[in-house]
Amino acid sequence: MELIYILTYDCNFRCSYCDIKKRKQDISFEVLEKSLDFLEENNFDIKKIKFFWWEPLIKKQDIKYIINNFPKKYNSEYFITSNSTLIDDDFIKFTKEKKINLTFSIDWDNNTNQENRKLISWDSLSNKIIENTKKYSKFIRINQVITSENSKDFFKNFNFIYDLWVRKFNFLPEYYREWSKQWLINLKKWFDEILEFYRNWNNFELINLENYSKTSFFNLWLVIDTDWKIYLTNLILSWIFEKYKKDLVIWNIYDWLKVDIKDDFFIKNYIMKIENIVKKEYPNEVLKSVKYVDLILNNFCYEFK
Ligand code: SF4
Repeated sequence: MELIYILTYDCNFRCSYCDIKKRKQDISFEVLEKSLDFLEENNFDIKKIKFFWWEPLIKKQDIKYIINNFPKKYNSEYFITSNSTLIDDDFIKFTKEKKINLTFSIDWDNNTNQENRKLISWDSLSNKIIENTKKYSKFIRINQVITSENSKDFFKNFNFIYDLWVRKFNFLPEYYREWSKQWLINLKKWFDEILEFYRNWNNFELINLENYSKTSFFNLWLVIDTDWKIYLTNLILSWIFEKYKKDLVIWNIYDWLKVDIKDDFFIKNYIMKIENIVKKEYPNEVLKSVKYVDLILNNFCYEFK
């Protein structure tokens, strides 16, 4: 099982494809402490603890606190995914000491980034992303975000990141958007190019293989939210799902967990609930085209393996 912490709903970016309604809704120190007690009192099979899909480096101190005080009975790995702009040597030192898997999420090249990553002063940030990726390339992993629009430059962008000496890649096609037939053809073509590149050079790692999910479109995780409630999906971060929070909440950290999250029947029902929301909120064309994206990615991962 994976545990996701939502420590804020804020980010220093405003990417065009991001579904989070950004705002200052931060976890309090009291809730943070209580969440650790809750995890100490309960027994979950937590293998991975993840901080992502808001900007984790806004909450560096909270992350340090959690990792330094996480109940010792869990022998879990930590994962942070950041847009890279707020990283510093001190935090890198901490991630090395604690053996944290650090991922920078990037679209590359610069033009592609500028299409999607919106912020007031783009130039300085843009330089920072490239600078930081290059500076920490040996240590970090990259989420290469592939949107339907930039899929035509996917292989070119991959080469751009590769030339910065990054050697660990997680390819992340954009979900919940409609992909045209031509875009899907591009995506398949460039995945084939990457496979060919790997066959010839054999010198990068594919991180996607670590993130396999049994359910298409979403993962099932234990999620602790800023409001001290517990969910089984981090889709609640998306503005589309926020209105369904009351249906998706399973418990809160101030009480003993009274639902059995290992129970097959409970999980099956929870998955059905999410699937029904997805069907209600997204046009059929989107869901249909994204199934092809999923298939292309899965086939790529299979070939890679
Ligand atoms: S960096 Fe990530 S969390 Fe921030 S706006 Fe972009 S996609 Fe959203």
